[in-house]
Amino acid sequence: MPAAFIGHGTPMNALDDNQYTRAWRAFGESIPTPRALLVVSAHWYINATAVTAMARPRTIHDFYGFPKQLFDFEYPAPGLPELAAEIAEVVQPTWVGEDTDSWGLDHGTWSVLCHMFPNADVPVVQLAINAEKPFDYHLALGAALAPLRDSGVLIVGSGNVVHNLGVLDFGQPDGGFDWAHRFNERAIELIGSTPEDVPSLAAHPDFRDSAPTPDHFIPFLYLAGLASAAGTTGAVMQDGYAFGSLSMTSWTVGA
Ligand code: ZN
Repeated sequence: MPAAFIGHGTPMNALDDNQYTRAWRAFGESIPTPRALLVVSAHWYINATAVTAMARPRTIHDFYGFPKQLFDFEYPAPGLPELAAEIAEVVQPTWVGEDTDSWGLDHGTWSVLCHMFPNADVPVVQLAINAEKPFDYHLALGAALAPLRDSGVLIVGSGNVVHNLGVLDFGQPDGGFDWAHRFNERAIELIGSTPEDVPSLAAHPDFRDSAPTPDHFIPFLYLAGLASAAGTTGAVMQDGYAFGSLSMTSWTVGA
């Protein structure tokens, strides 16, 4: 099974039909139906490593200031408690908590999956980002998840490699600032050559502007870890920028 990182952009992409959502849809259609989806979403950023382990994860509307249609949106995919247990096993000795009642599917997950798997019929488990851990931890945890690919699990990181909401420029809906281009292009280069070096982006001169909070960047480390574990590299699925300070680039491994 391939793996992917999706640049998810704003929640409006759940409702929109654009070059990005069409690329996500085409990717979903191009692969064999997965047994399950494991999504590392930027929007579950907590002080622990955990997976959702409920049979019926709720749709979480974790944003404000968007149209009612978005708050009414439901993505009723089932969970898969036995996959949560399998994940805890495969990443040992790293400890993973099983969340049975707190989280669910946040918009980092469903705004992408509603295009990739519009029927919501493939079970979904989310993996939380442990905010207390360094980048190397996330790279290694991504690599540790690699065996799941062999048993039909599609692993998806959902974030944005460049994500700075403080300086959004609505005058350039499809453009990126120079520093956003520099950082994103270096990310393309690194995952496309030596994915194990992706954590070194933390020392890039444009890192502070590109990832002022690392929540949207970290899911990319999981794809880098998976690429590295497979002895391969990440390929760009779809490239682009939005509002100056978001990169919308998505990548695949093994597609
Ligand atoms: Zn987001």
